[in-house]
Amino acid sequence: MPLESPTVLTQPERVRANTPLIEVREVKKDYELGETRVHALRGVSVSIAPGEFVAIMGASGSGKSTFMNILGCLDLPTSGTYLLDGIDVAGLSKKELAKIRNQKIGFVFQGFNLLARTTALENTELPMLYSRVPKAERERRAREALALVALADREDHYPSQLSGGQQQRVAIARALANRPSLLLADEPTGNLDSRTSVEVMEIMQRLNADGLTIVLVTHEPDIARFAKREVVFRDGQIKRDEKISRPQIASEVLKTLPAVED
Ligand code: ADP
Ligand code: MG
Repeated sequence: MPLESPTVLTQPERVRANTPLIEVREVKKDYELGETRVHALRGVSVSIAPGEFVAIMGASGSGKSTFMNILGCLDLPTSGTYLLDGIDVAGLSKKELAKIRNQKIGFVFQGFNLLARTTALENTELPMLYSRVPKAERERRAREALALVALADREDHYPSQLSGGQQQRVAIARALANRPSLLLADEPTGNLDSRTSVEVMEIMQRLNADGLTIVLVTHEPDIARFAKREVVFRDGQIKRDEKISRPQIASEVLKTLPAVED
């Protein structure tokens, strides 16, 4: 193919330019609380490439959730810059931010956040309602996402009919429905027992192996060891940032843990 071929330009920008998926530079975040100002982030710089799997650690109050909210375009920094996929989010309107959140980012939270009177399948379809995917395609993709988290046989179950681990898997399926390039998970195993936590990490490792970039907050060192890189926050700053040389393999760890009834 000749060098000047325009087809090269159809590649995603970040592939061509080797652009990080996430580029955070000197980000500060203050919260106004009446008369006082809380410095939740005090100058955070970090760069995350496509395909990384990063665990965010740090004591309670160190700024982890604030950082995740900024990565997820749920909140804007007080100062500093955040480029998502090469785009400066500060320059976007509320509507454009919502669109980016919906299309590029999947969210998983500690509390699952499923709608109670809604089946697993319908919960998984939710993000696609906002992106106006036609009904048949919505159902097809939702089934595909539920199959990825091994819940194909539970699509008609309501959250109350599912275990905590199954509910979190539905939440992961929902996060995947719009085929995001980034998965943000804030303490996703915080409400789960240890085996179920490893099952969730097994799913995340599988998704990451398929190319999904994952940023996961956890306060459990055992969970962080399933990631490929660990970033430790302290008092609103990054205290440590290093590659995990030999990540634990969740599917291997599961073999050593006693099985439980699903
Ligand atoms: P972590 O997730 O590591 O526990 P957070 O990012 O939630 O930490 O909080 C960092 C700091 O910012 C804490 O001191 C917290 O009390 C404060 N904070 C977080 N959210 C708000 C808010 N909406 N208003 C005021 N202060 C906040
Ligand atoms: Mg938090």
